[in-house]
Amino acid sequence: MIIEQMSTTEFDVLVIGGGITGAGIALDAASRGLKVALIDMQDFAGGTSGRSTKLIHGGLRYLKQFDFKLVAEVGKEREIIHRIAPHLTHPEPMLLPIVKGGSLGKFSTRIAMWIYEWMAGVKKEEGHKLLNREETENAEPLLEKKNLLGGILFYEYRTDDARLTIEVLKEAAIRGVSALNYTKAISFCYENNKITGAIVQDQITEQEYTLKSKYIVNASGPWVDELDDLEIYKSPHKLQITKGVHIVVDHKNLPIKQAVYFDALDKRMIFVIPREGKTYIGTTDTFYTGELKNPQITVEDKEYLLRCVNTHFMGKPLAPEDIESGWAGLRPLIRKRGKGPSEISRKDELFESESGMIIIAGGKLTGYRRMAERVVNLIAKKINTQPNKKIGSCITDKISLSGKEFSSDYDFQKFNNDFLSNGSEHGLSQKESELLVYRYGYHALKILAIIENLNKIEQNELPVLLRAQIHYCIEHEMCMNADDFFTRRTGMSYFDVESANQNKQMVKEYILNLIHQ
Ligand code: FAD
Repeated sequence: MIIEQMSTTEFDVLVIGGGITGAGIALDAASRGLKVALIDMQDFAGGTSGRSTKLIHGGLRYLKQFDFKLVAEVGKEREIIHRIAPHLTHPEPMLLPIVKGGSLGKFSTRIAMWIYEWMAGVKKEEGHKLLNREETENAEPLLEKKNLLGGILFYEYRTDDARLTIEVLKEAAIRGVSALNYTKAISFCYENNKITGAIVQDQITEQEYTLKSKYIVNASGPWVDELDDLEIYKSPHKLQITKGVHIVVDHKNLPIKQAVYFDALDKRMIFVIPREGKTYIGTTDTFYTGELKNPQITVEDKEYLLRCVNTHFMGKPLAPEDIESGWAGLRPLIRKRGKGPSEISRKDELFESESGMIIIAGGKLTGYRRMAERVVNLIAKKINTQPNKKIGSCITDKISLSGKEFSSDYDFQKFNNDFLSNGSEHGLSQKESELLVYRYGYHALKILAIIENLNKIEQNELPVLLRAQIHYCIEHEMCMNADDFFTRRTGMSYFDVESANQNKQMVKEYILNLIHQ
């Protein structure tokens, strides 16, 4: 068993948390030659990293908070992530309507846009465009016209947050990282008051093991304070958690032509984004003190989002019954007294506990690579003070993520086009082929090979496309159960909930059979 092997090794770095932050740190550390282990008590991306707005974005709204450093950093990162994982990041045109009495004026927004694009190094072809009222109405005919003055069209990148996390982890595994999901850190070991390892518990067998490591990183997102509490020297709590909810409706019920980012009733910004035949809406931002694993969507959350949309879009108003699915995520923000939920900075911060545990808190999906760089730089600095040790600098901006075997955007488009005909020879529709490419990148070819094999060797009521993905996800992505598959490997729990519900029982049984074979 992997865990037994891990418990006989001394690692350089043990990362606790398999969200995007931990995944990024593991990849960065391994690519600099360190021996790395990573554990997560749930599935990878089972925390906030599977529950975001699913955008690699430049953080335009942080300009409102004068957070220039964050804007510049995440803006540049957008470009890098698109380059290293084009299959997981697609340019998404966004319309920002400007309305009379809104918090964004035409002139000030334009200036903000110029500053933003300059700081973020936005490509010329993806620069913003100012639209007059008529052009704005044409761009999105469903927008409420009363008070509409015009709009600004700009670009963000759409992603699948959980898949991004998993592809970072797969790339880390290729570089030697031992990663395990469903493995929880329950206490720590010390020598001379310095932290030297973690006692971890397999969440399936309940068996406990000790993992030894020279450096331990707490990258547990909303659980950062809980993990701190397990230490013998407790440190002051760092987090202020806020909850963000998204809801999903059928695209037919809110048939927007394109993504819109609008100023809501309370001057907060809300996204409405078309995706895979659905439209998703988010997010709320409210202080949260409840249970961390499964934050719930309340009636108030739904009412707030529906009210925002129904006020700003025309057509048949959305009702609670129209909501097909949704998710609630927790923002692990750094505590700042006297600030409202949306005013707290999304910046990350690094801390060290008295025993030497390195703690990273706050941050954004988009900034994961730079956060990882800062953590590993700190470790490298400590190692480099020792005789005959030299850890190099960060190279992850040059490491393509697992699934990217394309040297350029053109290559990716060519692969995509070729795959469509390849897919159709295997009985896949255009939509199914596209979904596979955007989900698995180059590995979509492996799914086709599995389909071919399964068609030869088994007959099963469960569609072969699902079976093939299950095989792939179990073999290459540590998928353990139906929720891992439907929520974080395919996103079907959100964007194809009907098919997910219809096949849930069969998928459960199929996965169980494969795992116990
Ligand atoms: P997590 O993803 O929560 O990972 C922490 C992991 O630690 C969890 O998987 C958990 O199971 C594990 N863990 C905890 N305790 C233990 C333990 N004892 N042992 C083992 N494992 C443990 N950012 C963007 O860039 N773009 C967006 O569009 C965006 N939208 C957002 C929308 C919402 C509603 C929210 C809440 C956030 C959004 N963010 C966005 C921010 C981004 O999602 C987060 O900053 C990021 O996902 C945090 O990742 P993380 O790895 O730090 O935490």
